[in-house]
Order: sequence, then structure tokens, then C-alpha cells
Amino acid sequence: MTDVQRRSKKRKRGGRSRRKKKEECTPAAAAANNASVSVSVSVSSSTCASSVVRSASKSSSSFLDKMKAKLSGGYFRMINEKLYTCSGDEALNYFKEDPALFNVYHSGYQEQMSHWPVQPNDIIIKWINDRSPSLVVVDFGCGDARLSRSVKNKVFSFDLVSNDPAVIACDMSNTPLDTSSVDVAVFCLSLMGTNFPNYLQEANRVLKHRGWLLIAEVKSRFDPNTGGADPNEFVKSTCELGFASMTQDFSNKMFLLFYFQKKEKQRPKEPQIKWPELKPCLYKRR
Ligand code: SAH
Repeated sequence: MTDVQRRSKKRKRGGRSRRKKKEECTPAAAAANNASVSVSVSVSSSTCASSVVRSASKSSSSFLDKMKAKLSGGYFRMINEKLYTCSGDEALNYFKEDPALFNVYHSGYQEQMSHWPVQPNDIIIKWINDRSPSLVVVDFGCGDARLSRSVKNKVFSFDLVSNDPAVIACDMSNTPLDTSSVDVAVFCLSLMGTNFPNYLQEANRVLKHRGWLLIAEVKSRFDPNTGGADPNEFVKSTCELGFASMTQDFSNKMFLLFYFQKKEKQRPKEPQIKWPELKPCLYKRR
């Protein structure tokens, strides 16, 4: 091996290790910032080289786009599973430690939702818009708070992280709302935590008598044939909490809708309720 060859080999090795260092980053940073994995191709000063580089960079960029999509999909599924298998306060701390994970979760969530023929949020938005704009609404687990932007009503929007002044960051089992202060409580695909009955207790606390509780949940979570909860058990437990079941809409392919109204007469002491377990909704790799 000549001296020049030896030097060039050494340079290449050094280059590789430098690149490796650059790629070290947290999952959140990688996906949230749409992690630009940079590929540098060094070219000597020849003109035909530029067309080679163009086609190389075209195919490498589509390859990288695919890899980026795969990575974000993987992080989304990881965060999603975490949210379905921990309590609300654990979820709050999880995002406090790394708020960028929230954006990763929501880009994955939007991607999944884009495959649903009907969005449950749209049905709820229409339900609200068909009623008086004077009704005060609370959106528990509001995500990007689209609901609040789509109705004339006063909406309190809660989620674990707030990237928007309209959203209040908190664990929704413990909101800053006054007791008996709202007319409509919405949970749209947000009964995620293992302590979901606490969220419904909080809704019961903040709702006025005869106030509405609207719940949209993923259908598979309520399929007893595949380990999901029996929807009748869920309705029974919610009624024991202090609600009357008004309507159920199971016509949609992807989600169920439950409409409850808070009973005028509440039990003086909260009863011991045996809630069914809601199966986590784990999204498939696409
Ligand atoms: N309702 C919105 C977002 C659904 S995704 C929509 O239909 O588009 C579920 C949302 O619930 C997520 O944004 C998640 O952060 C939120 N969430 C889950 N557990 C929560 C909790 N304990 N407190 C507040 N928000 C919660």
C-alpha cells in the first residue's frame, strides 16, 4: 500500500466515526425535529460527477425519507403504548421530562387518523354545533384542540402538554375547573390511562346536573371477543357513577360513541364501582 493510499484509508475511518457521533440523538429529537440524517458526498471537480451526485442524493433522500417515516412510526407506537399502560400522572411526568415526545406522538396520531374514513371529533363537533352556543364545553385530552376552534361555545381544553395558549396542561383527573360548572364533557379517544375511571369521576364533578358526557373510543377496546371490554359493562359502571345512558352509536367501523347525561340525583357517597378493563389500543405497523 502506498503512503497516499494509507493516508486516504485513515481519513475515511476518521470520517466514519465523526458521522456516527453526529447521529447520536434522543428518539424525540430525532423524530420531532424531523431528524435530518445528513449524508455528505464529497466529489472531485468533475462535471459529470454532479449528475451522479444528483441521482445519488435523490435515491438516498427517498431512502432516508422512508427511514425517517419508519423511525417516527416506531416512536409513535412506543409512546402510544406507554400512554395506554400507565396512569395519568405518570403520563404527565413522562412528557414533562421530554415535551418533544408529545409532538412525536401527535404527528403519528394524525397519520393514523388520516386513514379513518370518519373522525369521531367531527361527529362531536357537529353534535355541539347543533345545540346552543351558550353551552360550556370541556374537552378532556384535546390533542391539537381542533374542537375548540370548530365551535362557537366556550371550550376548556385540557391535555398533558400545551403548545397552544388555548390548552391547559394537566392530568385530566385533576382539572382546575369549578364543581358543577360545565354543560358538556368530551372524551374523544382520550380514555387512555389505566386510571380512566378517575377521568370520568372528574367529568362528573365538573358537570352541572343534566350536563352531557360524550365519549368516543376505539372499537377494538370494546370487543370482548378479542380481550376488549364489554360495552354494556362500561355503560353500567358509568351509570353507577351518576349518569344515565341516553344513546349509543356503534355504527362506525373504527369507534364507538356513548352519550350520557348526568343524573339530577347523585349518591351522597361515591359508590364502589367495578370498572371493566379497557384494552390498550396498539396501532399496527403500516
Ligand atoms: N381528542 C383529540 C386527541 C385524541 S389523542 C382528538 O380527538 O383529536 C388522546 C389525547 O389524550 C392525547 O393528546 C393525550 O395526551 C391525551 N391524554 C391522555 N391521557 C391524559 C391525561 N391523563 N390528562 C390529559 N390528557 C391526556
